[in-house]
Amino acid sequence: MASTLSDRLSRLVKQMRGQARITEDNVQDMLREVRMALLEADVALPVVRDFVARVKDKALGQEVVGSLSPGQALVGVVHKELAATMGEGVADLNLATQPPAVILMAGLQGAGKTTTTAKLAKLLIEKRKKKVLTVSADVYRPAAIEQLKTVTKAAGAEWFPSSANDKPIDIARAALDHARRHYFDVLLVDTAGRLAIDEAMMAEIRELHAALSPIETLFVVDAMQGQDAVNTAKAFKDALPLSGVVLTKLDGDARGGAALSVRAITGAPIKFAGVSEKIDGLEVFDADRHAGRVLG
Ligand code: GDP
Repeated sequence: MASTLSDRLSRLVKQMRGQARITEDNVQDMLREVRMALLEADVALPVVRDFVARVKDKALGQEVVGSLSPGQALVGVVHKELAATMGEGVADLNLATQPPAVILMAGLQGAGKTTTTAKLAKLLIEKRKKKVLTVSADVYRPAAIEQLKTVTKAAGAEWFPSSANDKPIDIARAALDHARRHYFDVLLVDTAGRLAIDEAMMAEIRELHAALSPIETLFVVDAMQGQDAVNTAKAFKDALPLSGVVLTKLDGDARGGAALSVRAITGAPIKFAGVSEKIDGLEVFDADRHAGRVLG
């Protein structure tokens, strides 16, 4: 197994022990280790390059040079920069609009959209006492509509029926109308899984976005996708004004480098992390804790 960034850095720290000051050579050695470890954690190359350049500036600046324990100060710089890159603090879901607040779920097939829709419904009901309606605009896979119905029930939310014979845009409008008339606080719109390269499907979700004016457009992405997450994120970012990201399957053995890439490429905050298949397996994303995971 590859050494983690922590392992690599602590080896360097040991070598540096006894040195009163950090040298440029030390910094170069460290940057090389950071670069290798991030690539092993599946962070995209351009993102790694930017990251390393920022750490270099800070390491050569006053944060490390002249510090009592330069080795540890370096590790601190890397950890802090990782957390900052993934977004500092907690990015909450924005529901500040006249109800119903619409949340549009976007992402590739299999990313975890339907599961996350139900998890979010449960969280909004339990933590924020909201009245929640879900609807599926996936007319291509009738099984997807049924799946949303099942998980919505498990979440304790209400489900708006849709059928494979309807147009996604009509489904969305009917659901919004129903949500308005029945005083729902939130409408969660699950969409068809699409391949990023499928222009017709991307045009369809843009059309849904225009019709619904969602307050949140969440890009759902599988943490296990690693390097591929970059291309997917780029395609969705170009198609839609994303307001947040949900990183799923963080309970898998991915080191979570996708978080850095996706955050850098979309510019949107990572709001939630999927941590199990179960309906309560959704956590508010904590950048600082995730930095620890990437460090290993
Ligand atoms: P969709 O096609 O984007 O709607 O994806 P689904 O919601 O159907 O999820 C695809 C698969 O990933 C299902 O088997 C889910 O149970 C699983 N899944 C979704 N989120 C998570 C997660 O956070 N952790 C794990 N382990 N599995 C997940």
